[in-house]
Amino acid sequence: MQLLNGKETAKAILDSLEIDVAQRAASGKKVPHLAAILVGNNGASETYVASKVKTCSEIGFISTLIQFEEDVTEIKLLEKIEALNEDMDVDGILVQLPLPAHISEKKVIESIDPAKDVDGFHPINIGKMTLGEKDAFISATPYGIMLLLEHYKIETKGKHAVVIGRSHIVGRPMSILLSNNSNPGNCTVTLCHSKTTNLKEICLQADIIVAAIGIPEFVKADMVKEGAVVIDVGITRIKDASKKSGHRLVGDVDFTNVAPKTSYITPVPGGVGPMTIAALMKNTFKACDNRN
Ligand code: NAD
Repeated sequence: MQLLNGKETAKAILDSLEIDVAQRAASGKKVPHLAAILVGNNGASETYVASKVKTCSEIGFISTLIQFEEDVTEIKLLEKIEALNEDMDVDGILVQLPLPAHISEKKVIESIDPAKDVDGFHPINIGKMTLGEKDAFISATPYGIMLLLEHYKIETKGKHAVVIGRSHIVGRPMSILLSNNSNPGNCTVTLCHSKTTNLKEICLQADIIVAAIGIPEFVKADMVKEGAVVIDVGITRIKDASKKSGHRLVGDVDFTNVAPKTSYITPVPGGVGPMTIAALMKNTFKACDNRN
């Protein structure tokens, strides 16, 4: 079993981006500028946005954090996005999800200029990704997983990949990317979800499992074939009095019992999470490069 070290891989990607940004700056070009919108006081969202903003500054990007109270109106939020769409200096816009129930995530996502949609959630980018078009912005988590598979040169061609979870931001794009005629890709993909009846049998046929469910330790050892590659997307905070923070992060895979059966597995934390941020930064760089 080998760990797929997302922390190290993400660092290598970020180091290389830092050099690219410095080269842009040295040749008088603008540096990438990411605008992040955070609504309300969701602890996990605050943490995610803070680490994105911090990463921007570490690699020489400009970032702007725009915070709204929980009760901000949908119109006010849409007006801000429109202003960011028009702002020539802003290359990438992300709106941290989830949004409060009174705001339509669909309307918000569709209001972002697809050329600045560095989260890759806009239907235009999802369509381009599905068609395998190179100029698509790919949703950061599945893109990060593809970069991780690429980094470790994991053979995916002809393999059976089972993706568990069909969310628009993780499971579904992951299933499309793995099935595309690309490398990594060219898998035969089965997409499982909450209504799948024979999940264990399907998982046992998988050469690659991507777990994006949001239920801690859902994937057990008896669901995994010897030698499978297991990618754990799940991050659930569970209370743990023994930790200074009072909590710990748990993935969707029963790591202790599953890991010995695998050829490769991602840890939680330190697997998919850092890759998501690295992929977002790659998208933001690309948005800047496309526009300037
Ligand atoms: P989601 O709640 O939108 O989707 C969960 C999916 O799991 C659904 O499609 C559902 O059909 C499926 N599911 C639920 N119960 C199931 C069951 N019993 N059997 C089979 N499928 C079942 O979640 P999401 O946004 O895709 O996130 C999934 C997990 O990944 C969460 O823990 C989230 O925190 C984490 N996440 C991590 C990152 C990262 O950067 N590492 C990014 C995004 C999400």
